Order: sequence, then structure tokens, then C-alpha cells
Amino acid sequence: MSTTTTSVKTDKEVVEKNESKPSVGLSGRKIVYDKDGKPCRTCNTLQDFQFVTAGLTPAAAAVAVPVPAKKVEAEPSSPCNTIAGGYSKDYPPDVEVLGKSSWTLLHSIAATYPENPTSKEQQDLKQFVTLFGNFYPCWFCKADFVKYIEKNDPQVNSQDKFGKWLCEAHNEVNVKLGKPKFDCNLWKQRWKDGWDNDK
Ligand SMILES: Cc1cc2nc3c(=O)[nH]c(=O)nc-3n(C[C@H](O)[C@H](O)[C@H](O)COP(=O)(O)OP(=O)(O)OC[C@H]3O[C@@H](n4cnc5c(N)ncnc54)[C@H](O)[C@@H]3O)c2cc1C
Repeated sequence: MSTTTTSVKTDKEVVEKNESKPSVGLSGRKIVYDKDGKPCRTCNTLQDFQFVTAGLTPAAAAVAVPVPAKKVEAEPSSPCNTIAGGYSKDYPPDVEVLGKSSWTLLHSIAATYPENPTSKEQQDLKQFVTLFGNFYPCWFCKADFVKYIEKNDPQVNSQDKFGKWLCEAHNEVNVKLGKPKFDCNLWKQRWKDGWDNDK
């Protein structure tokens, strides 16, 4: 009787087996591939994704994929930027659009979470954060976020505790990306009350 061995590839192996493909994008960031070997749309910037899917060398890409000085908004009235029904032709989210939108949702949830939550609300929020992590669309972001939750139990017994816990979790990613840490004493001004001089 013969036995079949199946090997489960680790994420590291998945990244490394793509040696023949570009490993660094035009942004200078490492190109992230999915388990099937295709570039991960939600793990790379849109520019890097387009660079790697076009199969260009960096030199050719410098000519073929011009880097806009700033993001150019689609002209809704222009026929080439619209699809039937009048929606603008937006791209699926890259790692940055997805990240910013997700943090906005999470911090806004903190801002509207009760100051004195019931035990059911606490249980639900903890479950939500865990499931959110498990389903986060960028796989390598997800892996680190899930590990963070395992080591740092979500603090859900008051609005302020959750807001600060989330701020620390966000700072963990900021540090990983070389960005400055946000002062977590200011999380409510940023996400709930607004800044003093706005009043
Ligand atoms: C769970 C999760 C994991 C991620 N992991 C990765 C990853 O591994 N690699 C990767 O490249 N990207 C990751 N991202 C995306 C990354 O965090 C950013 O969202 C993305 O780089 C865009 O950054 P940004 O400069 O637009 O601002 P963001 O970091 O998206 O922040 C949006 C706004 O939040 C405010 N803010 C910043 N820090 C804090 C804080 N600590 N607390 C409260 N408010 C704050 C600021 O006003 C900022 O303008 C992750 C996103 C999420 C939601």
C-alpha cells in the first residue's frame, strides 16, 4: 500500500519560491505573493502590483509605469473612468487603502462602543476583533495581527480601554512600517471628539 505525503508550505516558503519573479517593487517594498504564486493584490501597493503583473523589469517599468507625483482622482464625468451605472472605475483595494479603511472602521467602533459595556457587548466585541483578524484580506498583515491578539488580549471592559488597546495594536504596525507611534492619550480626539481648535 502506498502512502502519499502532502507538504504544507509555510508563508515564508511561499515568498521564497518566487525567486524568478521580482522580489522588490518600485516602492522599494518587498513584493508579497499568494500561496498560488500570484502577486497578492491586498498585500502590495497598487503601483507594485501593476508593476509585477505587467512583468516588467524595474528599468522598463520606470518608462512604462510612470509614478504620479500625487494621487490623481478619477474624473467621474469622463467616459473612460466610468462604468455602466455611473460608478467610477476604482481599483480593488491595495494594502494601503485596505489598511486605512480598516483602521477607520475599527477606531470608529471604539469611539461608539459603550463606556460601560454589558458582558454580552464585551464578549461580542472580543469575538468581532478575533474574527476580523482571522478574515483580514492581506495574509501577512493578518498573521501578525492574529499573533498580536494572542499575546495581547483585547481590552473590552470600557470604551477607553478598548480605544487604547486598539491604538497600541495600530502602533505595533506603525513601528513595523517605520512610521511614528501615535500618542494613545489622544485617541479620543482623533476618533471621537475632534481636536480642541475644531470646536
Ligand atoms: C490589522 C491591520 C494590520 C496591518 N498590517 C500591515 C502590515 O503588516 N504591513 C503593511 O504594509 N500594512 C499593514 N496594514 C496597513 C497599515 O497599517 C496602514 O493602514 C497603511 O500603511 C496606510 O497607512 P496610512 O499612513 O494611510 O495611515 P494608517 O496607518 O492607515 O492610519 C490612518 C490614520 O489613523 C491615525 N492613526 C495612526 N496611528 C494610530 C494609532 N496608533 N491609534 C489611533 N489612530 C492612529 C492617523 O490619524 C492616521 O492618519 C495593516 C492594517 C490593519 C488594519
